[in-house]
Amino acid sequence: EPTKPSHFLRQIIEADLAAGKHAHNHWAGSPGDAAHQRAGALDAAAIRTRFPPEPNGYLHVGHAKSICLNFGLARDYQGVCHLRFDDTNPEKEDQEYVDSIIDAVHWLGFDWKDTDGAEHQYFASDYFDFMYRAAEYLIEAGHAYVDEQTADEMRASRGDFSKPGVNSPFRDRTPAESLARFRAMRDGQLPDGAAVLRAKIDMASPNINMRDPAIYRIRRATHHNTGDRWCIYPMYTFAHPIEDALECITHSICTLEFEDQRPFYDWLLDRLAEGDLIATPQPRQYEFARLNLTYVITSKRKLKHLVDNGIVAGWDDPRMPTIVGLRRRGYTPAAIRLFCDRIGVTKDYSWIDYATLEGCLREDLEPRAHRAMVVLDPVPLVLTNWAEVFGSDGHLEDCQLPALPHAVDGQEAPAPRRFKLGRQVWIEREDFEETPPKGYKRLFPGNLVRLKGGYVVECTGCVRGADGQVAEVHAKVIADTKSGTPGADSVKAKSAITWVGAHDGVQAEVRLYDRLFTDAQPDAGGKDFLTLLNPGSLRVATAWAEPSLAAARADDKFQFERHGYFVADRHDHASGKPVFNRITSLKDSWGK
Ligand code: ATP
Ligand code: MG
Ligand code: MG
Repeated sequence: EPTKPSHFLRQIIEADLAAGKHAHNHWAGSPGDAAHQRAGALDAAAIRTRFPPEPNGYLHVGHAKSICLNFGLARDYQGVCHLRFDDTNPEKEDQEYVDSIIDAVHWLGFDWKDTDGAEHQYFASDYFDFMYRAAEYLIEAGHAYVDEQTADEMRASRGDFSKPGVNSPFRDRTPAESLARFRAMRDGQLPDGAAVLRAKIDMASPNINMRDPAIYRIRRATHHNTGDRWCIYPMYTFAHPIEDALECITHSICTLEFEDQRPFYDWLLDRLAEGDLIATPQPRQYEFARLNLTYVITSKRKLKHLVDNGIVAGWDDPRMPTIVGLRRRGYTPAAIRLFCDRIGVTKDYSWIDYATLEGCLREDLEPRAHRAMVVLDPVPLVLTNWAEVFGSDGHLEDCQLPALPHAVDGQEAPAPRRFKLGRQVWIEREDFEETPPKGYKRLFPGNLVRLKGGYVVECTGCVRGADGQVAEVHAKVIADTKSGTPGADSVKAKSAITWVGAHDGVQAEVRLYDRLFTDAQPDAGGKDFLTLLNPGSLRVATAWAEPSLAAARADDKFQFERHGYFVADRHDHASGKPVFNRITSLKDSWGK
């Protein structure tokens, strides 16, 4: 892959490496957590990033940006990127999602091995014991207290941007008293919601996240990993910095929404370092702008709504912006990685045009996807003088076209596609006009057109059915004009059209996908995305395909000439029953 463009995170990492900042970033003590010690055993000088999804849904194209960034940086600087399941929220998490996340990261071309081949996959829930100890430490050191106000009281006393908060009446209880209450929380002696553990920072801070944030809550819920062992769970803002510190993460990269959390991230790690609970130097958090892609929703909750309500056929519906959806649609890992490099990494809020993603797919497939002719809206073309020219109506002419238009460097050219021309072929309905509009170059009475890879024909007219629709187009084949023969240029055709032989064509189901939403920003400005669904997001055509496509295997990708890039559906395609999905159309509009 070509050299990556630089960006502010690369500059930070390069400066840190040059300064030897992480040369001592390994854990010398013995906190007793196996995962922690595993992480600490690594080459001390290397950078360590992490991708920390919550296993509560399938990953989407926004996550792909984070994956390419974190795993890509680790690879480029000979470090390691941890795959960490941020599973501190017991209710919504599931093994199905864990498995799908592992698949998605692998499929995108990344792994979590370090340079010695050791795997770095972690679960935040494995650190619950350590987190609990850290919480007790904060209480003992006077940095946390158990608050027993109601949720409403706490909300009211937090204040807002215009006014400072008010101290809780529980704020000045002694560490011993808070410790006893915290243990009562842990031991199940208090009902859900009766108390929270709060960091003791500053109720007057201009940053509301620093106004004594909650760090532990009571929640009787079965956790997918720890079962019913705990009835208190750490809050994300408390858990995340600890996870990073235990794994000796050097650069903790997240989206800009977390910028206001950074002071708490640093406050917490400073306190834990003072207590000798974590290694130094501590991880640092850096923020970048999340991916916003036009016509796409990147909220797991809303995507789940589409799945749960049958608006799409599943997480891997080819219209979904999930990694599994993009994969089934025919997007390639290389195209998605190219897209992530191309959109870059900045701190500026912006929207990326969906066409950028489509352009990356075309760039990846253009040189390597085999070409094929497929007629999506078929009407028969009858060559009425066939027997006069070739001796019998049943005669078939061998034709061929290259599988790829250009040689690929260092690769042997693939065998050409072979097919036969006979008296009757399928053409696109739009390729005939009885009364041609101005500038029309395809079939109309008296016009000469080449059947691509075959002969030049002269249109003579059409037959209409009872409904008035064109039922057959008629033409005369012109002898000695076959492509690739000396006579090919003897007559000048106005255009060349795609076609499929009626005798050797293969019937195929072709799924023509369009955008799922009619609005470029279906999820912005309080819009209701459910009212913005595109009713034409899926159209199914019964098409005729050239015989080379009978050999297509699931996941094979093609360029159907003039129609775009297509993939044989991963699940529904079978050799006797071909099913193709349109990935994207061709940028260049086909010959007018
Ligand atoms: P959602 O809101 O869809 O649930 P999330 O951010 O809560 O997304 P996580 O599983 O926590 O989902 O995300 C894992 C990582 O992916 C986080 O580090 C997060 O910052 C990153 N991420 C999520 N969405 C995007 C996006 N649109 N662009 C870039 N990174 C993203
Ligand atoms: Mg999240
Ligand atoms: Mg979320």
